[in-house]
Amino acid sequence: MDEPGGYAGPASKSAVVSDDSRAFDVVVVGAGPAGSASALEVARAGYTVALVERGPYPGAKNVYGGVVYGRILDELVPGWWERMPVQRWVTRRATMIMTPTQALTVDMRAQDWGRPPYNGATAYRADLDAWLADQAVAAGAVLIPATVATGLLRGPDGSVAGVRTDRPDGDLTASVVIACDGVNSFLAKEAGMYPAENVAEHTTLGVKETIALPREVIDERFGLSGRDGADIEMIGCTRGIPGGGFLYTNLESVSLGVVVGLTGLAAAKVRPEELIADLKEHPAIAPLVRGGTLQEYSAHLIPEGGYRSMPELVGDGMLVAGDAAAMCLAAGIWLEGVNFALGAGMYAGRAAAAALRSGDTSKSGLAAYRTMLEDSFVLADHRKLRKVPDLVLSQRVQADYPGLLCDLVQGLFTVENPAPKPGLRRLLRLGTRAHGVRRRDLVRDALVGLRSFG
Ligand SMILES: Cc1cc2nc3c(=O)[nH]c(=O)nc-3n(C[C@H](O)[C@H](O)[C@H](O)COP(=O)(O)OP(=O)(O)OC[C@H]3O[C@@H](n4cnc5c(N)ncnc54)[C@H](O)[C@@H]3O)c2cc1C
Repeated sequence: MDEPGGYAGPASKSAVVSDDSRAFDVVVVGAGPAGSASALEVARAGYTVALVERGPYPGAKNVYGGVVYGRILDELVPGWWERMPVQRWVTRRATMIMTPTQALTVDMRAQDWGRPPYNGATAYRADLDAWLADQAVAAGAVLIPATVATGLLRGPDGSVAGVRTDRPDGDLTASVVIACDGVNSFLAKEAGMYPAENVAEHTTLGVKETIALPREVIDERFGLSGRDGADIEMIGCTRGIPGGGFLYTNLESVSLGVVVGLTGLAAAKVRPEELIADLKEHPAIAPLVRGGTLQEYSAHLIPEGGYRSMPELVGDGMLVAGDAAAMCLAAGIWLEGVNFALGAGMYAGRAAAAALRSGDTSKSGLAAYRTMLEDSFVLADHRKLRKVPDLVLSQRVQADYPGLLCDLVQGLFTVENPAPKPGLRRLLRLGTRAHGVRRRDLVRDALVGLRSFG
């Protein structure tokens, strides 16, 4: 596929519900990746499903960095790569460890990633979400855009029985409600599925600039050709505020952003735009974005607490999926939410359909959802990496280790003749002292990392 193609634009922009269809088997709230995947699976199973979206069309209000990792789409939309509105295929993935004046990069290029079934792709959210919603609509889902779900309806036994909306004609009833309303899901909170704790601690703010550059300039600067694309994750670029950065290539723009913990940001009294401005001046980033024109600035919250911050996923007549269930995986070298949302949405749709088939949409009738998630990458990855978000957001990983690692490698790469070459042990001793790193913390963190990633 040479140009982003095969996609004529979001047909789903114009879909509306007719006045006589207020009762559905399932109501899905939120037409992001989780919601569209849920609605698609319910519709495929032959049940009626409404997909309620507050934006004027799916993707209208949504923000992300820009990379979709496609494996789960193989199952959800076979052959997706021939139809999805892709900007570039990610053939280069790098992680950059930074201090204000240094950058140490692990840079992986793989030609395989540029061929089907593809490892990942960059795509604009407005295109991606509308395309995903179109798949659900084509399967029979009824998209209800420009409509806010304002609360839950309850049946006589207290189970969830639909949603209230801000439309003049109001309620939508259903046997199952799937909450895919994104971070800080107020539906999951209203249902009492979130533990009462400080959400800010598990929430980061992502801010992003989309910077226009000519296609050939992007190709040259990032060493790309054709539809190849780059995905660069960064750590140590947020003035010690827990978080990280990213830089992704689209066809004729790049997405540059930072993700920072809310509590750390408030304590540091720094504006997120200042952090992006820092990045644009960093010696490793400035040459990549120089001369670009700011196209768009956007910001959105991210649930980064992982496994331990997830709500209850199943209730009587209700399931929670995607960011609404804090399923975004932010573990340093990964910032993945879309694939987890797609996976969770798909299993939620399947579990809802199975419960409808068996005539039991109570909590126990819907319990298969949790089992499907446990058996799949969605909860398996989160469980395996459950200690990583805290480690990645720790002061040591954020502020101490980047300097230590950069100095260590700079020391190795510096030629000091006639002095003899420094030994690794000496460099480590000097580095840990200079950066105030305790050996036992280093060993303990290395063990957490090895156990999680091993
Ligand atoms: C700056 C940033 C960078 C990121 N980068 C990446 C990346 O590169 N790759 C990646 O995989 N993930 C990334 N993520 C995470 C990713 O965006 C999310 O994990 C993913 O979008 C979750 O999908 P979702 O469907 O669960 O929720 P969302 O995409 O948030 O969708 C929720 C939907 O619900 C709608 N909605 C909300 N409330 C209501 C309501 N009451 N009534 C009706 N509709 C409602 C919203 O309008 C929205 O359409 C990033 C996030 C941010 C903020």
